[in-house]
Amino acid sequence: MNVYDSGRMGDVLAHHGYGLTIDADGADMVILNTCHIREKAAEKLYSELGRFRILKDARKAAGKTTLIAVAGCVAQAEGAEIMRRAPFVDIVLGPQTYHRLPELIARAERSAGDGVLDIEFPPESKFDHLPDAAPTSSAAFLTIQEGCDKFCTFCVVPYTRGAEYSRPIADIVAEARLLCAAGVAEITLLGQNVNAYRDGDTGAGLGPLIRALDDIDGLARLRYMTSHPIDMDDDLIAAHGEVDALMPFLHLPVQSGSDAVLARMNRRHRIDDYRRTIDQLMAARNDLKLSSDFIVGFPGESDKDFEATLELAANIGFIQAYSFKYSPRPGTPAAAMVDQVPEALKSERLAALQDVLNASQREFNEGCDGRVMAVLFDRAGRKDGQLVGRSPYMQPVHVMAPESLMGQVTDVVITETNANSLGGELAATSTGTSQRKISA
Ligand code: SAH
Ligand code: SF4
Repeated sequence: MNVYDSGRMGDVLAHHGYGLTIDADGADMVILNTCHIREKAAEKLYSELGRFRILKDARKAAGKTTLIAVAGCVAQAEGAEIMRRAPFVDIVLGPQTYHRLPELIARAERSAGDGVLDIEFPPESKFDHLPDAAPTSSAAFLTIQEGCDKFCTFCVVPYTRGAEYSRPIADIVAEARLLCAAGVAEITLLGQNVNAYRDGDTGAGLGPLIRALDDIDGLARLRYMTSHPIDMDDDLIAAHGEVDALMPFLHLPVQSGSDAVLARMNRRHRIDDYRRTIDQLMAARNDLKLSSDFIVGFPGESDKDFEATLELAANIGFIQAYSFKYSPRPGTPAAAMVDQVPEALKSERLAALQDVLNASQREFNEGCDGRVMAVLFDRAGRKDGQLVGRSPYMQPVHVMAPESLMGQVTDVVITETNANSLGGELAATSTGTSQRKISA
């Protein structure tokens, strides 16, 4: 979602004379878009700010000004603290106010060095005040839902992103149409709780939204993330069997294999429910594969609890996964639980779980050898004449292919498998199924 948000900040500023650059030394403004989900992510902000302070001073010595802005969830959670620890920061803004960036810049320029802070949850929706999205790749993100009302005991999202909010279905379809008219072939629908999506007027959930998007010309692929297991309703599961564009790959975080831990996490489902949901999904679409998120070392996690997680991971055979050591977050209930797991044990468990998860991923990748897979090329490779795209299962696939196939879904024979990526050759018949291109 931060990638989407950063892109939208770029869209806002493009109308005010700014262009994107990856060269911070030459930038008139630097925006750090931050994540607060784990302590490590939040800590990065202050080390990065140290680097940009030096840059700002050096540019000042050369007679140039540099605005430094901190956006995103660390800004939301620690707004005034950032101003105090890093007084050279010009603007601090939360994830719900970035449509106000032009006004904040104007205030910062007038303020003679006093920082400007905007971490409101404003009454207006930022989506109603953003310019049209200008896609830079044939695979685009589209935020349909934000915030969360579930309050898992480990998680900061309900506090930093606020209450659950779904965009109107008509607005989403309109944004998707614009993206596809500009050459986008794949859209990933985003939300902190994307399958809790509900259109305010019609009550339509994610299933009907996916069916509505399926009618759009040029849209070859649809994905959505991140889903909560309890919001996988029957209609959404059925959509997996009915909508070809919906890719056979679903991110469905389980966090733990132990019912006792899930209960303390306030996840509101049991492992049996999770397995049943997967069975239903597989019945709807038997080539569906899953990825997941895991937290190890949640307070009170016993050896037995952890073994249940290992067993679940091995048994389901996720083809990709993110796994994390539990990170206590200020203000969340789990941070105050008394039976915190020692850091060394967390590290040990993480390594053991990652062995199991990596083995499943490797096994799936190796099984792709010799298969023909549809690949959407969306970037140039490192080698001359090479393109990189994504398989239906999100594996990066490297292929020697003409530039003209960029932005197209093309059949590829897989000839090389690695831990995290695949290599292949254009299949003899590949002419591409989508004719559009996009200029980045
Ligand atoms: N809404 C999604 C998750 C969003 S947060 C869901 O309910 O599944 C993304 C992932 O970060 C989570 O799935 C979790 O695995 C991880 N995470 C969140 N808070 C964490 C914490 N305090 N410590 C470690 N990992 C955490
Ligand atoms: Fe956080 Fe996801 Fe739980 Fe919401 S459902 S509190 S975003 S982990």
